[in-house]
Amino acid sequence: MFEALSKWRQRRVLQRVAIPDTLWREAVGLLPFLAIYAADELERLRAKVVLFLDAKAIVGARGHEVTPLQRVIIAIQASMLVLELDLTFYDGFENVIVYPGEFVPDWEWEDEAGVVHRNDAPLAGEAMPGGPVVLSWPDVAAGADWENTGMNLVIHEFAHKIDMCNGEANGCPPLPGGMPLELWKAALTAAHDAFCARVDRGEDTAIDPYAAESPAEFFAVLSEVFFADPALLRQEYPDVYAQFAALYRQDPAARAARLLPE
Ligand SMILES: [Zn+2]
Repeated sequence: MFEALSKWRQRRVLQRVAIPDTLWREAVGLLPFLAIYAADELERLRAKVVLFLDAKAIVGARGHEVTPLQRVIIAIQASMLVLELDLTFYDGFENVIVYPGEFVPDWEWEDEAGVVHRNDAPLAGEAMPGGPVVLSWPDVAAGADWENTGMNLVIHEFAHKIDMCNGEANGCPPLPGGMPLELWKAALTAAHDAFCARVDRGEDTAIDPYAAESPAEFFAVLSEVFFADPALLRQEYPDVYAQFAALYRQDPAARAARLLPE
């Protein structure tokens, strides 16, 4: 019954709220990795973006004013992850906060010896458990140019949010029914170990070495690659690619291949 009600509400939102065509086209044009989406996929993405913007407030802070174009650019990238999933993956928080630049979060943590540390390193983005996603606008903008930056901040932080659906971010998000946890863990652990070894050897990797930081960062960074450069992930870590395709219920590398000349 709840499900039906929610579908009814979604239909209402889609009927009431629309993104103007010019704004939509401008945002899509600024995100080159959307070129692999077929027209019907883009239409479904647009509907998801409308629902996302209805569910979340994207607000500027520390002097940053979020323009309508910036809102749509952020919402598109957040919605790519859940294009084939329910938006409930993003339940439990209301806001996306956008800062004018990198920021130093004011949290502290206690280590095993009971020593309290303060974070003083600037961050480009942060996904807080049970709290907002925080983004630095210049870093969001840089992520549009995957070819040159090899990073996508919005996809990264929202991958952390999906990972946090079943507790703290640990590289093991809730898996849809039928996906064996052992296979997920085996694929991700083997790839993470191999990647860390390459980074330790000082190899120049095609994937951001920040992925070696932890299993949680490995999942978030490889999710960026999955959506922004899927052929690269399929080539480097095919087992991880297969697991991600099952988790996100998308095969972006097949999307890209469709566009290649025969
Ligand atoms: Zn991260």
